[in-house]
Amino acid sequence: MSKIVLITGASSGIGRAIAIKCAEQKYDLILTARRQERLIELKEYLTANFHVSVYILCFDIQQNDEVVSSFNSLPSQWRDIDILINNAGLALGLETIDNGTLWHWEQMIDTNLKGLLYITKLVSAEMVRRHCGAIVNIGSIAGKEVYQNGNVYCATKHAVDALTKAMRIDLLRHNIKVSQVAPGMVNTEFSLVRFEGDTQRADSIYNGLTPLMAEDVADAVMFVITRPPHVTINDIVIMPTCQANTTNVLREV
Ligand code: NAP
Repeated sequence: MSKIVLITGASSGIGRAIAIKCAEQKYDLILTARRQERLIELKEYLTANFHVSVYILCFDIQQNDEVVSSFNSLPSQWRDIDILINNAGLALGLETIDNGTLWHWEQMIDTNLKGLLYITKLVSAEMVRRHCGAIVNIGSIAGKEVYQNGNVYCATKHAVDALTKAMRIDLLRHNIKVSQVAPGMVNTEFSLVRFEGDTQRADSIYNGLTPLMAEDVADAVMFVITRPPHVTINDIVIMPTCQANTTNVLREV
């Protein structure tokens, strides 16, 4: 029987790339995000090209009641999730702490931290019942270091880093692997979201450099989830070659 992988934030960027690579490996998929039409398009592409089964769950991960009711709507054959990829997340704004926008902070905390917790609670309970499973959290280099004006985004990703370690301890006796993949700059819709549709500002982030592609991060995730049962990859930090850390980036002039 095929393994079932649930991916949050599958409508774009890294989550979408992971979905495609999982389908190539014949995993069945539960795709989640808010933008239903994107998920439908991806489902059609995956089922037509890879002959896998795909189930769509459309919810706002910030809303626990939506997460719970969506999860509870899963048909029984989709409940036995083997792998959870906690990928949904965002950054909003780039301001000093005194100039920060409360709404930005709340969106980041409610998505990157609370949303990850809401879905993990539900899926991990099923994994505990079955005494197997694997969870991969998409963290960030911003969860390893902080950078100027990155304050709240960095705090949420540091929380993901801490939760990855804490979950690994809690779930150890239940035979559940917990891993993190923490990327540097990846060219997705991330910067467009961060700067609220300002394409010029978003594009300027990648000016004069070659960032990671979503597929590069998906490759790292595939390595993590295809290890044999006795091997867990705790953490992978994956960077574009032009980026040493959060602040040192080599740009062509
Ligand atoms: P992206 O292209 O903007 O994708 C973000 C995904 O998260 C989308 O599918 C989006 O779906 C989903 N999402 C956001 N808010 C949501 C909500 N409230 N409810 C449900 N789904 C939600 O960005 P990405 O770069 O692929 O980001 C994926 C992950 O990688 C994030 O956790 C991000 O922090 C992390 N990351 C990115 C970078 C980078 O440079 N790109 C670097 C390090 C880490 P909908 O909008 O359809 O809901």
